[in-house]
Amino acid sequence: FTEGDAILRRQSQRESAARTYARSLPIVPVRARGMTIEGADGRRYLDCLSGAGTLALGHNHPVVLEAIRRVLDSGAPLHVLDLATPVKDAFTTALFETLPPELADRGRIQFCGPAGTDAVEAAIKLVRTATGRSGLLAFSGAYHGMTAAALAATGDTSVQGAAGVTDGRVVRLPYPYNYRCPFGTGGAAGAELSARLTAHLLDDPKGGVQPPAGMILEPVQGEGGVIPAPNAWLCRMRRITADRGIPLIADEVQTGVGRTGTFWAIESSGIVPDVMVLSKAIGGSLPLAVIVYREELDCWQPGAHAGTFRGNQLAMAAGTATLTYVRENDLAGRAATLGARLLAGLCGLMGRHPCIGDVRGRGLMIGIELVDPAAEPDDYGSLPAAPGLAAAVQREALRRGLIVELGGRHGSTVRLLPPLTVTDQQVEAVLDRLADSIAAAGR
Ligand code: PMP
Repeated sequence: FTEGDAILRRQSQRESAARTYARSLPIVPVRARGMTIEGADGRRYLDCLSGAGTLALGHNHPVVLEAIRRVLDSGAPLHVLDLATPVKDAFTTALFETLPPELADRGRIQFCGPAGTDAVEAAIKLVRTATGRSGLLAFSGAYHGMTAAALAATGDTSVQGAAGVTDGRVVRLPYPYNYRCPFGTGGAAGAELSARLTAHLLDDPKGGVQPPAGMILEPVQGEGGVIPAPNAWLCRMRRITADRGIPLIADEVQTGVGRTGTFWAIESSGIVPDVMVLSKAIGGSLPLAVIVYREELDCWQPGAHAGTFRGNQLAMAAGTATLTYVRENDLAGRAATLGARLLAGLCGLMGRHPCIGDVRGRGLMIGIELVDPAAEPDDYGSLPAAPGLAAAVQREALRRGLIVELGGRHGSTVRLLPPLTVTDQQVEAVLDRLADSIAAAGR
């Protein structure tokens, strides 16, 4: 009976039953560097969860630690509300250098608080204030956070909990989830039909959809099962919203900072949203969330949006170091290359394991959807989801020193979010361990 076991037991007694990662990953991390986490029992794990996609540079990267130390040693205040400081100025400058010119040149930034959900909340409030309308278009399978408006926009009912958090003002549209697309498979056809349905709902006077305050989408759904939206679909959504004066909010909380092979995921389609929601990796491991938006939407009066924790100096310094390092070392390009290698390796596994229904992703944001190969395919040719098998793969992976997370509508997608600093050897090790885990779980 080890110290780690005692910690796990105490936490399971004291923490809410809602605890998630701690349940599926019963480890007690005590040290971490890069992609490696060491548990209290001395075991080492390759971390493909990266703080739910937060750790672009992995754990404790030297440039992040150095940036934090510099602030600590300088005597700068650690808590500054929303006052102007040199640390904040450096962060804003580094962030704006990464944005599309339309936002970099004339955009505005609002610091929102520590969490992604704070920024989603601010984005929805902003477009509601700016348009004077209240409806919101959101997508099936979306994940936007756990606070009221963000949760209402989230499309996975299992996390919505008790009545009262759903919101009749949210109109849910189908996301182009091609493996289980209600419009048939073929990426372009599914995307086209989803776009046509959206336009029809907005334009048909009998459609019952009042002009909404905005549309919110993830360029690649993360928690929803790692589903990249086709670029053509993103372009259609941009055109549909622009033509009708509906602000488009891109939630890049998980996809940002190089993860999908471009600095921001919207870049691969060339679209520029009206509002970008940014968190996770922008704080270089520490809590930070902002929205960036077009000047025309800057409708708030002084004090119209507030929050005590909008000026975390350590997070802004760690964020500046991360944004700069990703940009100067083209880690987005590296994510594209290594992501393609991972996807190719996983596609190779599909041939050997019929329980792999789909492998998909963009850059280093990858999903493996597990299915029941013995079952009958549904009307769209897809096999039923196999959440039990996915959980077994996760357990087998952990036994082999590999941390992966699950997601998707049915919890049947194994998600890989390695740091962008993952080495070629680590990519091969991830593939080997996953292959063994799937073989062991599928037996
Ligand atoms: N949006 C997206 C796309 C996310 O993936 C998440 C978190 N997984 C959030 C919003 C919410 O962020 P947080 O958990 O920091 O509130």
